[in-house]
Amino acid sequence: MATSIVEKFHSMEYGPAPEDPSEVNKWLDAHQRTFGHYINGEWTKPATTFETRNPATGDVLATVAQAEAADVDRAVKAARAALPAWQALTGHQRARYLYAFARQVQKHSRRLAVLESMDNGKSIRESRDIDIPLVARHFYYHAGWAQLLGDLTDTGFDGEEFRGYTPVGVVGQIIPWNFPLLMFAWKVAPALAAGNTVVIKPAEFTPLTAIAMAEIAAEVGLPKGVLNVVNGAGETGAAIVEHPDIDKIAFTGSTEVGRIIRKATAKTPKKLSLELGGKSPFLVFDDADLDSAVEGLVDGIWFNQGQVCCAGSRLLVQERVAERLYDKIRARMETLRVGSPLDKAIDIGAIVDQVQYDRITKLVAMGIAEGATCWQPEIPLPKNGLFLKPTLLTDVHPSSTVAQQEIFGPVLASMTFRTPAEAVELANNTPYGLAACVWSENINVALDVAAQVKAGVVWINSTNLFDAACGFGGYRESGYGREGGKEGMYEYLVPAWTHAAKSKAEVVQEAREQRSENRDHDGNGSVGIDRTVKQYIGGKQARPDSGYSFAVYNREGELVGEAPLGNRKDIRNAVEAARPAGNKWAKTAAHTRAQVLYYIAENLIQRREEIVRKLSEFVGEAQAQVEFDSSVDRAFTYAAWCDKFEGSVHNPPFRMVTLAMKEAIGTVAILAPDDAPLLGLLSLVLPAIAMGNSVVAVPSERAATIMSDLYQVFDTSDLPGGVVNLVAGRPMELGKTLSEHDDVDAVWSFRDEAAAAMVKLGSTGNLKQVWTNEGRAIDWFHPKHAQGAWYLKHATQVKNIWVPYGE
Ligand code: NDP
Repeated sequence: MATSIVEKFHSMEYGPAPEDPSEVNKWLDAHQRTFGHYINGEWTKPATTFETRNPATGDVLATVAQAEAADVDRAVKAARAALPAWQALTGHQRARYLYAFARQVQKHSRRLAVLESMDNGKSIRESRDIDIPLVARHFYYHAGWAQLLGDLTDTGFDGEEFRGYTPVGVVGQIIPWNFPLLMFAWKVAPALAAGNTVVIKPAEFTPLTAIAMAEIAAEVGLPKGVLNVVNGAGETGAAIVEHPDIDKIAFTGSTEVGRIIRKATAKTPKKLSLELGGKSPFLVFDDADLDSAVEGLVDGIWFNQGQVCCAGSRLLVQERVAERLYDKIRARMETLRVGSPLDKAIDIGAIVDQVQYDRITKLVAMGIAEGATCWQPEIPLPKNGLFLKPTLLTDVHPSSTVAQQEIFGPVLASMTFRTPAEAVELANNTPYGLAACVWSENINVALDVAAQVKAGVVWINSTNLFDAACGFGGYRESGYGREGGKEGMYEYLVPAWTHAAKSKAEVVQEAREQRSENRDHDGNGSVGIDRTVKQYIGGKQARPDSGYSFAVYNREGELVGEAPLGNRKDIRNAVEAARPAGNKWAKTAAHTRAQVLYYIAENLIQRREEIVRKLSEFVGEAQAQVEFDSSVDRAFTYAAWCDKFEGSVHNPPFRMVTLAMKEAIGTVAILAPDDAPLLGLLSLVLPAIAMGNSVVAVPSERAATIMSDLYQVFDTSDLPGGVVNLVAGRPMELGKTLSEHDDVDAVWSFRDEAAAAMVKLGSTGNLKQVWTNEGRAIDWFHPKHAQGAWYLKHATQVKNIWVPYGE
């Protein structure tokens, strides 16, 4: 008997609304369902291959070539060869190619969306309405940057933006399977816009849309070799990472592989950006609009089957409303529809692969074993294919596996809190820091919490919003570097002068020769043993734990003093002092920080005669005078910058504004250079503290006694104790301890190549940010090289806070 409309209306049953895959099948058949790599504008003939399957049906979609190291090498050679001609184009010409990409994506949007859903298992609603429009937006946006960068001259780009920067060179990119085409766009568009050439590897599970984009590259006439797509698994990725002729690696994927890549690139000058995992908190306060929060959760954890790096996978709800919220969530979960990704009325599609399916189910079982209560709705699942029910875990302990580990599936782990302070503590209680959602109708609560969570992206009363103009990327073990926006462009650029910079070894040799020439003219003779120099920790002078001192000699080889020999305990004490001091300092008004820096400058001037006299011992009187005056100038410069290196406001195409706040990184470890012992040290310490970081610095070993004058200046300049800590000793030893210390957030090495490699290796544990000179000599006397935005950028990380705004 036929059902009446009234009956149907009551049951609210959906009929099937299948998307037609025939165009995609035709496309696959036209290629005999076999694909090679796209290298130097040509398709290779597949030798070794792998299969890519539709996770919803298990059907093989296509057979794809598996790249060996030799294929990667050919792709890199093609990218290298294409670089000069690509960079010789005008910014406008490069922009035209990116614009053409955007247009082609729009023209073929449905084919790309269906292909993406078939290869990945994500619902067509998401690929059609979210992923593909964002891909087009990304190419349009970056076509704009290509245009505005202008043309490349000897001194870098000549446009208004990024003046003086040049492309980094050949870029290797490795992307995951959760947003195959969107990640392709996030990587390729900025790299090409900035004048680089690319070798990219899509994930083994989802290679097809990247292949379709390579076809588009050929259609739009992109010059050969500018974009190369190689396919394969982890080994292919590793071959890209290890290739000696790649200048930068951009990676999105697991924290575990991020660590492997950090290690593998440690001994090279490759630039690196890592977009890694997360365990993002979804905070709901008792005054939140609970129904909106539930809809937010649907996007936060069930979007893309929860296979989202920034998924709101940890629900933190204020105790008073917890049960009410859980009831609403359960009721909403009962209405979620799991099924064929190509059905337009489906909310949750298929899990990408059996491996991932097993991983998710295993983690849920672990959560239950550790005490969580598991709830799943009584909803039907398709009989075949990799489908999972949406899952709610309550009674989760903050330290349990499901509260700490990324599940990367449709599983929400929930905990409660009582006060905003407890909410922040719980939110920050993982090693990650990718994203956070804050739900509260009270703007004060929402913005106060947003300021305190350690996350690169914060959504207020919203979830999972992305736009090409708004940077995306993590704090802490969620990686470093940003994708999108102006910040994202910097990942693919370097200051032009760094290309021409000499190596440290060359400069040391030149200085040696110069010194022997000057010996007769400005030798001062010995000043005798100085007064006792100590470590400077927590605002106090401290004896070295080792009980040893080391001798410090002047240029003539005469003893001028003794410096304390620091060891790992001194470093531990300094890091312990730096953390609380830094927390307070970061919250100190920029205006106040500026005054302290001005005061430092003033007090330096007071001691000019004494400092110049001591510095002369190491660098000669002529350099000492200039070095001192430049140091004072630097202090004034960074005092000026304190309240001017500000964030920006983005206007994404939604009813939101995005506040791109520049925040301090935390505790920064600094290995200062030898060549300009005072100026080099201050050129690194001052921008770090100007931006609200605390510092543990190892001064130049050969001129370590100079630090006694510095700490006396700090002591008399209202600089809170612990904001700057100075530990003298052997830089390689102390640098190793600092770079391995899990409570240090960034490490800067401005010594030689060996020190740069050592700190990169050491940083792997907590994936602290690393910045080095890559063994290049920096002209500390040249403001263009030694001060300004390049330094300030490294002293900050951007938090993008999305706030509802407008009609
Ligand atoms: P991976 O980090 O292993 O994969 C990401 C990319 O790196 C893929 O292209 C992969 O190749 C490649 N790769 C793997 N090993 C290496 C290596 N040694 N050197 C260079 N490249 C390598 O993530 P998985 O796909 O294995 O997923 C595992 C877990 O990672 C997920 O469950 C999830 O928790 C997390 N993840 C996080 C993502 C994020 O966006 N933050 C994205 C994807 C996963 P291939 O896939 O071909 O093996």
